[in-house]
Amino acid sequence: MVSKDKIRRILDSYDKKNITIATGCSHTSLQIFHGAKLEGFRTLGISVQQKTKMYDAFPAAKPDDFLYVDSYAQLIDMTDYLIEQNVIVVPHGSFVEYMTPAIFESWEVPSFGNRMVLDWEADREKEREWLTSAGVKMPRIISDAQKIDRPVLVKYHGAKGGRGFFIAKDYPEFKMGLEHAKKYHIQEYVLGTRYYVHFFYSPIKTEGYKLSKGVLELLSMDRRDESNIDEMYKLGSVEELKRHGFFPTFVVTGNVPIVARESLLPKFFDLGERIIESSFNLFGGLIGPFCIESIVTDQLDVVVFEVSARIVAGTNPYISGSSYSDLIQPGLSTGRRIAQEIKLGVEKGLLHEIIT
Ligand code: ATP
Repeated sequence: MVSKDKIRRILDSYDKKNITIATGCSHTSLQIFHGAKLEGFRTLGISVQQKTKMYDAFPAAKPDDFLYVDSYAQLIDMTDYLIEQNVIVVPHGSFVEYMTPAIFESWEVPSFGNRMVLDWEADREKEREWLTSAGVKMPRIISDAQKIDRPVLVKYHGAKGGRGFFIAKDYPEFKMGLEHAKKYHIQEYVLGTRYYVHFFYSPIKTEGYKLSKGVLELLSMDRRDESNIDEMYKLGSVEELKRHGFFPTFVVTGNVPIVARESLLPKFFDLGERIIESSFNLFGGLIGPFCIESIVTDQLDVVVFEVSARIVAGTNPYISGSSYSDLIQPGLSTGRRIAQEIKLGVEKGLLHEIIT
């Protein structure tokens, strides 16, 4: 892990009037560049073999410059160049995933947020320790497959976007679905509606929904469109389809805007608050955007199955604001909120609190 001192020394050397906000050319890059431009920053698109012609179609979100590299390894060699450009990287999910958390952790280019969160997010057991110790309700783990007595979801470790996950309702179904070579864990299947709630935590802003330090903001929420489970019902019962070799999958293909009933909002805020407060002690705090991935049952219980500790693609429907962020500032996207936080960090001389 690159040390905080090292990053602070690099930040001290930056020309604060000429900071460049950079991110990888995919995932949530349009709103990150759009937001950064609105806040007056120079922008740099990092293309690791991604095609960049798409940005010509969206002038308000086209970065000022591109940096083309063939691989993430080559990006490590560009460290000095990026530092000379006063670059702050905004890491999104794809950037960290493709660079790999191990390399990203030690990359010496200043990055928005706290890199220490990676250890707690990537390891499912540590993530569970973090959330349950904060008093957040999570789906029950079933440690003995022979004791499956209700619908469960079998999750393979390292599966991206739920690929390969399967539902079983008893032991024979579990045995039928299991791919033996893979590591997995079994989780109670929580029946309810899914809400992916997009928060932003600022340790340096003082007005708003206050925590023991800083403020918590609710910017938007979405529901993921998941193929093929979301559409399977059109073809008949899952049991019948399984006999024909069709199994439900959870591969994310897009994001649908959503608002929750208003009485759920205090519950969501309470969860966000617990997750942030507990992150202070465990690893010095989760900073910036994060997403609580939850299921709301018909008893209006909120069960959290995962936390994403950075900007998620579910914020993309809200490049020009959401029902919630509009009540903070009309038209505010998560991308723009990140740029505003960097600006506030510069103004207050507190960049080192939000950049690691
Ligand atoms: P990503 O990293 O892209 O978020 P993942 O591989 O970590 O995906 P999860 O997000 O844990 O996978 O789960 C994928 C999908 O499976 C969820 O979006 C949700 O639809 C469903 N799901 C996950 N856990 C449960 C659960 N306990 N009960 C019911 N459905 C669940």
